Amino acid sequence: MHVAVLGAGVMGVTTAYYLAKAGCEVTVVDRQNEVAAETSYGNAGMISTGHALPWASPRALKTLLKSFWRSDVGFRLRLRALPHLTGWGLRFLKECTADGVARNAERKHRISAYSQRCLAAIREATGLDYHERSNGILYYFRDAAHFELGKASLKPLGNLGHGFEMVDVEGCIGFEPALAHIRDQLAGGVISASDETGDCRVFTERLADACRDLGVRFEMGTAVKRLRQANGRIVAAETASGDIEADTFVLALGSYSPVLAKPLGLNLPVYPVKGYSLTLPIVDETRGPRAGCVDEGRLVAFSRLGDVLRLTAVAEFDRFDTAHEPADFDHMVDLAIQLFGDAVDTTRPSHWACLRPMTPDGPPILGQCPVDNLFLNTGQGHMGWTMACGSSRVVADLILGQQPEISLDGLTYDRY
Ligand SMILES: Cc1cc2nc3c(=O)[nH]c(=O)nc-3n(C[C@H](O)[C@H](O)[C@H](O)COP(=O)(O)OP(=O)(O)OC[C@H]3O[C@@H](n4cnc5c(N)ncnc54)[C@H](O)[C@@H]3O)c2cc1C
Repeated sequence: MHVAVLGAGVMGVTTAYYLAKAGCEVTVVDRQNEVAAETSYGNAGMISTGHALPWASPRALKTLLKSFWRSDVGFRLRLRALPHLTGWGLRFLKECTADGVARNAERKHRISAYSQRCLAAIREATGLDYHERSNGILYYFRDAAHFELGKASLKPLGNLGHGFEMVDVEGCIGFEPALAHIRDQLAGGVISASDETGDCRVFTERLADACRDLGVRFEMGTAVKRLRQANGRIVAAETASGDIEADTFVLALGSYSPVLAKPLGLNLPVYPVKGYSLTLPIVDETRGPRAGCVDEGRLVAFSRLGDVLRLTAVAEFDRFDTAHEPADFDHMVDLAIQLFGDAVDTTRPSHWACLRPMTPDGPPILGQCPVDNLFLNTGQGHMGWTMACGSSRVVADLILGQQPEISLDGLTYDRY
């Protein structure tokens, strides 16, 4: 069977890996010249199963309202985005109930936990090094009331058996010594010891090399313009350099999946939510962060990826805009200096902005759709690195006619 995987982000490359391992002929197609050149390039690096909570919640409504008059809430809704957000926005609002949170948290946690096991198995099978650190993630809070809310919001994951450790200020500093610099601003934190960090781009690049060794062909610098359909099946992906024909197609285009799906009559509710990412060289390796942390007060996530510090922040609804300017990163630079001082080189920053492919309810969209030979692997949102290996394993199993190892309830297209 020949499978064309559209998209060479972490989703496309992991899908190609599983299919090639099973003996399929695989062609990966991407408009960029390198793999992982868009959203999979600059994420926070967190394998954060302990954060598998949906954005849609009763509290999200308050945050949304606040964002109209405050610019410091980490969430920005551009008015020009509103006309394009109606369908997605209404679905999002519908999920903002306690029942919605419990349902979507279970679905996100199911695919995330499975994905973490799949990632471990790939690591074991390939020996890939992607600067992984398996020593947990700390979610820390700056005021007592927020800490109480944060602990309460984790209940749906605690009910699923996910292990958390609640720590006081000294516990936070014990986990990440650099937090001693802001001791008087801390209220406490939550450690998810099973969470991990690692460089998604490095992982994707190295797995792509492993795919090439398995015979996968990469058609890079090749934008897909349209999927040509006949008799309810895709017959070709049309590109400027000619048609790509295959028996089966996988749509793994991140935030751009709906663009190619729409002419086929598929309405994929995946909205691009922009995030900003700052990378700073660590010049004193004895003093960088030792594990991943999320500053819940400032809404900044940071981790150490080899010899760099990666910080990410902001959820901005502004369609496909990925523009950025240095001032967008000032609050991240401030935090880096506060915590790590001259151990990081702020004179050599690398700025980046990219789009989270968000569904309104939170879980991804995996597997079959009404077009016979088209499989979806998209909509992983703010947790695509966490969910990648599991999502792709499920999609590969479905293509191969095998029963996935987890239930797909609530993870497929037919829920919409
Ligand atoms: C700031 C930020 C921080 C994040 N932090 C984390 C984190 O810590 N942990 C976590 O789990 N997740 C995180 N995420 C989410 C995660 O990065 C994404 O969910 C994931 O990278 C999505 O992967 P993807 O392969 O679906 O999309 P992408 O990586 O965007 O890949 C899609 C590919 O499709 C290609 N493409 C698009 N259109 C076409 C076309 N017409 N023709 C050909 N090619 C096309 C693109 O070039 C691209 O290479 C973060 C996201 C952001 C923005």
